Amino acid sequence: DTALYAAKRAGRGRFEFYSDVMDTKAREAELRRAVAGDELVVFFQPAVTLATGAVRGVEALVRWNHPVRGLLGPGEFIELAEETGAVVPLGAWVLRAACREAAGWRTGIPGSDALRLAVNLSPKQVAQADLVTTVETILAETGFPPDRLTLEITESVILQPDPLTIGRLEALRDLGIQLAVDDFGTGYSALSYLRRLPVTVLKIDRSFVTGIADDPEARSVCEAVVHLGEAFKMTVVAEGIETAEQATALIDMGCGIGQGFFFHRPLPPADATALIRDQFASRLP
Ligand code: C2E
Ligand code: MG
Ligand code: MG
Ligand code: MG
Repeated sequence: DTALYAAKRAGRGRFEFYSDVMDTKAREAELRRAVAGDELVVFFQPAVTLATGAVRGVEALVRWNHPVRGLLGPGEFIELAEETGAVVPLGAWVLRAACREAAGWRTGIPGSDALRLAVNLSPKQVAQADLVTTVETILAETGFPPDRLTLEITESVILQPDPLTIGRLEALRDLGIQLAVDDFGTGYSALSYLRRLPVTVLKIDRSFVTGIADDPEARSVCEAVVHLGEAFKMTVVAEGIETAEQATALIDMGCGIGQGFFFHRPLPPADATALIRDQFASRLP
């Protein structure tokens, strides 16, 4: 590393490109080692019923417990993982770890059977021919039921729905898995494709929720997505709710479900387990 930076300095830009390539390769190798080793951790952010605050599900969010740099969020490595393809084994690791944890809650915490688990899928994962087999294998291995799983895809996947992709998404739907469109609203052209895809959940992007109280355009987008959900009989989830005012505005619009720091931050596994135990144990008759 030191040598690399020295070369960079000495080269006055001449070796910059070369060392950047080296750097990417080194970082990719490090990331692949992290996936194979035990440096990744799954955090869980609860999704709640807005009107009551009751936890109805959790979303798995990956973290990298880096030996030197500490706990890293996906913003620091997901793009690299996507570019290099490392996101494929990484995504399978997250799905397995999340399903295993959530299967444990189902058996260990009475009354928690209804809890849903959401896991993010990257465009690269959706493009894999063996996506459906991978998901099926992990569900069988962990014993987590497909009808409690939601897979979140990004709008970019919807923008180029080639027949193979549509076939894979339909196969996942046929297993009983729900499909959500994440960060919905950021790429409006996707609207026309929506009806052709087996999607049942729309997640309003945080940028619109953030502006809901004082930006009329952001507010209109939230309303539009809620109406779209009603028209298409899809569940609408608002993400990134940080204030009571935002939660109230969403409830008033008819949005039933939300996620955000106002309710819960993403929690490490032990804290998620404690919260779920607390929530579901108290709901028993
Ligand atoms: P996402 O799937 O849209 O997840 C929501 C992100 O917003 C999470 O960031 C979460 O911590 C953050 N968030 C939730 N509520 C609030 C809030 O009230 N305020 C603010 N400011 N932020 C909030 P995180 O964990 O850093 O993840 C970022 C993105 O990385 C995710 O966005 C998702 O696209 C991606 N990602 C995370 N885990 C995975 C994974 O396992 N696989 C793949 N392919 N992507 C992942
Ligand atoms: Mg998501
Ligand atoms: Mg999102
Ligand atoms: Mg997002």
